[in-house]
Amino acid sequence: MFLTFNPGPSQISQATIKDIGEAIDRSILSISHRSEQFKDIFRLAVENLRRYLCISESYKILFVSSATEAMEIVLRNCAGRSSFHFVNGAFSERFYKIAEMIGKDPVKLVAEYGKGFDLSEVNIPDQCDLICITHNETSTGYRWDYQEIQEVRSKYPGKIISVDIVSSALSEPLPVEEADIWFFSVQKVCGLPAGLGVIILNEKVISKSRELVERGSDIGSFHSLPVLYEKAEKYQTFETPNILNIFLFYKAMGRLCKIGIDEIEKKTREKAHIIYSWLEAHEHLRPFIEDPEHRSLTVVTVFLPEWIKCGVLAEKLGEMNIVIGRGYGDFSDSQFRIANFIAHSRKDVMVLIKSVDEVLERIGK
Ligand SMILES: *Cc1c(COP(=O)(O)O)cnc(C)c1O
Repeated sequence: MFLTFNPGPSQISQATIKDIGEAIDRSILSISHRSEQFKDIFRLAVENLRRYLCISESYKILFVSSATEAMEIVLRNCAGRSSFHFVNGAFSERFYKIAEMIGKDPVKLVAEYGKGFDLSEVNIPDQCDLICITHNETSTGYRWDYQEIQEVRSKYPGKIISVDIVSSALSEPLPVEEADIWFFSVQKVCGLPAGLGVIILNEKVISKSRELVERGSDIGSFHSLPVLYEKAEKYQTFETPNILNIFLFYKAMGRLCKIGIDEIEKKTREKAHIIYSWLEAHEHLRPFIEDPEHRSLTVVTVFLPEWIKCGVLAEKLGEMNIVIGRGYGDFSDSQFRIANFIAHSRKDVMVLIKSVDEVLERIGK
């Protein structure tokens, strides 16, 4: 077994490995998705998440198959003619690209990778009825402050705000009321196997998608929001869903409820602090995100010195059974990324730091 700090799919906890065994022992893998047993699992998964993140009843929780799918669903169901995108990395760019692919005529405001946006200068055109924000840009480790999302919301109260929280969800409290639709997938912070996406949305969004149908828009079929919503009310999905993952999610959320989000946030911040302090004091390494206020708590992006390529570092660490995330796109050689997720213990982080330093010392000579 190796220890992985790749941002996703990421480290799976021992508890989840046990849950997989339990799913097999209890024959969860072959129950009918129309059975009462499945409905109970679905209901408990939703209830646990609701309890953990303090999500009020006015927000609904839906299951889809990935965050990328959620992007398309959001765009089809919430953008009439056009959507507006804050782009400062590969995932926010993906959100924009999908809007283009489905013919939504999107508008983007681009910031340099690793940098943020001057919100006082932002001017969102009238034709954009949907605003898309990537809370934690996994490709660069840039994190929006929730205060800034609130600022956008108060400036544009009539528009729908959608936030991608794939690589930050569950690690800190979520100001649910500050956006209309949130989504994440489970293979990142949550540490589950890939193949399940979660959408949290309010009534305003459902009304919007119904309005779009009336205007003749294509909002999709079995994964349109109204269909997902109607089915979820009965703890069901239209298709045969990822039953195993919904079961694992219910179990993982149950454990998180017992620990509590404040404790999880505290641990996440502590580990992030250890990593950033190490980088700031480092002779050779430095954090990519310069502004400490916008440094991700969950994905730390690190600049390497010229004399070591990410591939070499990754290979040497691999020999020690440690996996790091490669730099993204243009930065694939010059950066590496460290996931700081729930399944990563403080001890794991210390092991990583020690191992990276060992490799640098060996190569540097
Ligand atoms: C990983 C990631 C996605 C894509 O998630 P999938 O589950 O692979 O579709 C989207 N947004 C962000 C911020 C991500 O980190």
